[in-house]
Amino acid sequence: MNHDPSLPDLNGQPCIACSSPIRVRVAEWSAECPACGSWRSLLVPEINSAELHEPIDRSGRVAGFKMLRDKNNAEILDEIAAEIPLGGKRLFDVGSAHGWFVEAAARRGMCAEGIEPEMEMVNHARSRGLNVRPGYFPAALSEDERTDVISFNDVLEHIPDVDAALDACAHTLRPGGLLSVNIPSASGLAYRIATGLARVRFRGPYLRLWQYGLPSPHIHYFTPAALQRVIERHGFMVVRRRPLSSIRREGLWARVHTVSRPTVSSVIMFLVLWAATPILDRPRHADVVLLLARRQVTS
Ligand SMILES: [Zn+2]
Repeated sequence: MNHDPSLPDLNGQPCIACSSPIRVRVAEWSAECPACGSWRSLLVPEINSAELHEPIDRSGRVAGFKMLRDKNNAEILDEIAAEIPLGGKRLFDVGSAHGWFVEAAARRGMCAEGIEPEMEMVNHARSRGLNVRPGYFPAALSEDERTDVISFNDVLEHIPDVDAALDACAHTLRPGGLLSVNIPSASGLAYRIATGLARVRFRGPYLRLWQYGLPSPHIHYFTPAALQRVIERHGFMVVRRRPLSSIRREGLWARVHTVSRPTVSSVIMFLVLWAATPILDRPRHADVVLLLARRQVTS
């Protein structure tokens, strides 16, 4: 159990994206906005846990996951490069974890720095020569620090106060700077299948997608259009919106077993996902979406 029963009932609360009243659905801790299709939860992060991220890769267990991330990181940097030349530009990667995105950005000439709350991850990334600052965004920055690019890779959906985070981005980015956000999508096929299964009492995939019971569960599941709306009310204009891959057969076994040893149900899950990979990876079913937004010049 990692939802907080003392938090107020979600029923009737305003949707973060569109302000319509949301409705509790599927589980007592999750609610859907009938107007825009976004979801939110009452799950509570347990930050500073040693298991905040996927385990540090000392055993090769995250190798398959890293291949997928490397491919997506290259594509994200291509999209950013199509908007601004990367060389010499400053980048903050919020929730930088292993530092893979910081590393990829630095390799392409950016002055890239991670911001990461979990000290074990900070030390791990630093031991590989990466520039990572311990702490939270924006508290880890001084008031007058500015940057050209801020990235959130699978991070924004874990942040309870998305509006405050986006305000801090608008403050920290230079005019014309870029915000790069990728999130799991509530319109994605995997989320829709998991929701359908949970409604008939097979809740395993739904709990897994929300990262229920893990130290850093999801608080939000936005649709791409809803996230665009949220971002744009903080002084940004979304300039690119596209799907990213969320699944590959290579490394899938290790990914399914990141948090548990093989069981009958995990093996069934692996076989179903393996068979469904070509369908799940189609762009129109995308479970992960990238949005690039430019900070508008204000007078
Ligand atoms: Zn809504």
